[in-house]
Amino acid sequence: MSTILHQSRETRSAETDSVKYVYYFGDGQAEGNAKMKDVLGGKGAGLAEMTNIGVPVPPGFTISTAVCTYFYDHGKTYPPELKDTVARNLARVEESVGRKFGDPDKPLLVSVRSGARASMPGMMDTILNLGLNDDTVQGLARSSGDERFALDSYRRFIQMYSGVVLEIDRDHFEHELFALRDRAGVKTDAEIPAASLRELVATYKKLVHDRLGRDFPQDVHEQLWGAIGAVFNSWNNQRAITYRKLNQIPDDWGTAVNVQSMVFGNMGDDCATGVAFTRNPSNGEHRFFGEFLPNAQGEDVVAGIRTPMPISKAQALEGETSLEETFPDVYAQLVDVYKKLESHYRDMQDIEFTIQSRKLYLLQTRTGKRTGFASVKIACDMVDEGLITSTEAIERVEANQIIQLLAPVFDAKEKEKALSGGRQLGRGLPAGPGAATGRIAFSAERAVAMAKDGPVILVRIETSPEDIAGMHSAAGILTTRGGLTSHAAVVARGMGRPCVVGAGALRVDYGKGELRSDGHEPLEEGDWLSLDGTSGEILGGQLATRPSEVVQVLLEGSMKPEESETYRNFDRLLKWADEIRTIGIRTNADTPNDARVARLFGAAGIGLCRTEHMFFAEERILRVREMILARDEKGRRKALSEILPFQKGDFEGIFRELAGMPVTVRLLDPPLHEFLPQTEAQISAVAREMNWGFVELRNKVAQLHEQNPMLGHRGCRLGITYPEIYEMQVRAIFQAACELKKEGVDVQPEVMIPLVGTTKELQLTAEVVRRVAAEVMQEQGETIDYLVGTMIEIPRAALIADQLADTAEFFSFGTNDLTQMTFGYSRDDAGSFLPDYVDKKILPKDPFESIDQAGVGQLVRLGTERGRATNPRLKVGVCGEHGGDPDSIRFFRACNLNYVSCSPYRVPVARLAAAQAELEHKAYEG
Ligand code: PEP
Ligand code: MG
Repeated sequence: MSTILHQSRETRSAETDSVKYVYYFGDGQAEGNAKMKDVLGGKGAGLAEMTNIGVPVPPGFTISTAVCTYFYDHGKTYPPELKDTVARNLARVEESVGRKFGDPDKPLLVSVRSGARASMPGMMDTILNLGLNDDTVQGLARSSGDERFALDSYRRFIQMYSGVVLEIDRDHFEHELFALRDRAGVKTDAEIPAASLRELVATYKKLVHDRLGRDFPQDVHEQLWGAIGAVFNSWNNQRAITYRKLNQIPDDWGTAVNVQSMVFGNMGDDCATGVAFTRNPSNGEHRFFGEFLPNAQGEDVVAGIRTPMPISKAQALEGETSLEETFPDVYAQLVDVYKKLESHYRDMQDIEFTIQSRKLYLLQTRTGKRTGFASVKIACDMVDEGLITSTEAIERVEANQIIQLLAPVFDAKEKEKALSGGRQLGRGLPAGPGAATGRIAFSAERAVAMAKDGPVILVRIETSPEDIAGMHSAAGILTTRGGLTSHAAVVARGMGRPCVVGAGALRVDYGKGELRSDGHEPLEEGDWLSLDGTSGEILGGQLATRPSEVVQVLLEGSMKPEESETYRNFDRLLKWADEIRTIGIRTNADTPNDARVARLFGAAGIGLCRTEHMFFAEERILRVREMILARDEKGRRKALSEILPFQKGDFEGIFRELAGMPVTVRLLDPPLHEFLPQTEAQISAVAREMNWGFVELRNKVAQLHEQNPMLGHRGCRLGITYPEIYEMQVRAIFQAACELKKEGVDVQPEVMIPLVGTTKELQLTAEVVRRVAAEVMQEQGETIDYLVGTMIEIPRAALIADQLADTAEFFSFGTNDLTQMTFGYSRDDAGSFLPDYVDKKILPKDPFESIDQAGVGQLVRLGTERGRATNPRLKVGVCGEHGGDPDSIRFFRACNLNYVSCSPYRVPVARLAAAQAELEHKAYEG
């Protein structure tokens, strides 16, 4: 569906009722504002808002995302009225700055930039200095009084425009530039004299002519429309598509195009360009933080080509000169602006600025991307500062990001040993916190390939948007060039990857495939490397990691809460979340230790204890095999009686750990073949133990083989054919419960039957549970309050949920199997085609990761409604993997489920996501 249909009333001009396609900003007034991101993109909305609140912004206009939609819906053409509208707005810009587009004396130059609703750093195209040609370049030289600057701007423009619009490989231009530097005997671009730049411009123009058979466009309007088209086209370049996929940005949002009058940070030593964050985006520290490059143009900082300088004295290391010292008056103004922006937006901002002849201009403001660490700290600090409420703090932290606070750090002792052992190869800027250890890959492609066999560290001189997939598969990222706002740093932060950038003492040689550091043997692809993204240290070899501070405080007790601000903020935020959420959080745990971890992370019970995991332990598996292979019931009962004490012990440990909380124990579920002896050695061991002949046993194993075990003899089907298995398990549960109750422990077992598809299956198995429970309670002289319930994981069970609810006292949706059986995709084999399905947009996401709301989700909704129609008090939860996925949790909240159950380390994510789901639900319900 076209986005135009969704345009708000604001976007239609009053007189004509036609869609408004272009929005002007400048001279303290803008037609748009911060709320119009859908229409203006993030950048356009930011420029409009800054203009409105009196921040100095060069004038310009934004062509809306509706034009992008039109462009793709109409064979890459524009709405007919667009040409005139753009011309009118361009004239307003000309009037504002007192220069004319294409004027040979005082030319107006513009930048043409993309800007989507959600920030997609570096993924789409930008063109600067547009409006230069053989005539206007002379006018620029005269009006700026700096010929060298004018020629440098022209050659940069030809280079950028040819790459982006004319699609000539950028390497050709780079090659000419290097050759020229060699001939001129200079090292940097800034040292190239004017005469050589003139020569370079001629070379570039010839290059274009040779490649295309026509001249570089001299008509400035042709240049402008070429650039606008290129930006719209870049919405669908490969790296933008990949980025959208990784960040779940819809393909139909489209980008806006911002055309803005140029200001120059490269017009001499009283000029500069920079980027800054109103707070530290890596650790959240409340300090203005950023980088700048004197005498440079915007893209130079972000591209990581030159390592920039710090913005403030406090941030400067020895030997570095800050902006605060270089331009004290501009710095003071910048501080005023950043404070104004942060208090206006009430969130950390990421800003881009340019200083032209000591005058400050803001080119961008947006909500700054940040790590999970920074996100939590900034949210908590802003609550303390009275800037936001605790509810807003909850909305600010992406639920999945909180898991970063649980990520390991290097073991302090191990690291000390490595450092004193001379393993430190260098140090860079700490761009993404956390510890990473892995094998070196020097290219994104190799990182993707190598990551299949273990953790990889992607090592690059600098990264570019093409590297996105490699960065995603790497455990950590290292670059030798670039600052904290370089591409690598920005993207790594967004992904939560440990990252070190600008490690200037290290040298990457792609040709030889080596990473060099003075005094150390060069490292090659596949060698181990360790990065501390919190301190910036780079160490050779593998390094053991230690649990995070949160884990040290909560689980190990090796750190006190007073010693860890990270822990205190984590705890505060989650307690605020608990006050808001209505959906309960349980955990999937099979051992007392997992149960303990989950309880400490805030779980209020177990939603799924998979008893089969207990059967695999060394001393038990043989008994289990004897049980399965027994010739008759007697043999089976004998083996089961030997398993019982183990099971009882397991339950005791878990019940004790979760005293006072419900514990859902699922009776045996997996296909029996999973327990069978596979190798000849295993068969012969079991045969010896059971007094069977080897061949006889091997035949029996073959006889039990199933073609489709996941659809075969598993789940409650086992309990129907071998009731003695379930009897043993129930006996173990209730013996443990009764004994603990005698000790005064509050035990709340919930016995769950898996893979039910018919009412009779549930009735028969539930009868076994209730009978054996009664027997044990009588033997023990105790009464235990318990529930019997069923999993809903076969579509048929969801459809007959009203009947099942006659017997079941609770439902738990096993969304793993329910997804498998609803789609007909094998859980174990879908990996071979699902990524392709997501790529081809057959499915929006992997349905095993995030619930398929349109299909599987409807069975959850319907099953719940039908179940509650029979029993309004029916307790309903989810225990598939989806229980820890924020989007799925939002859906389950909307279905009025009582709880979700997820793995212990995802419990904090689920707590936060559940609070966010509640806030959205309330907002929706009004
Ligand atoms: C499920 O199917 O969602 C479930 C929780 O059970 P299992 O993953 O053990 O099959
Ligand atoms: Mg299942």
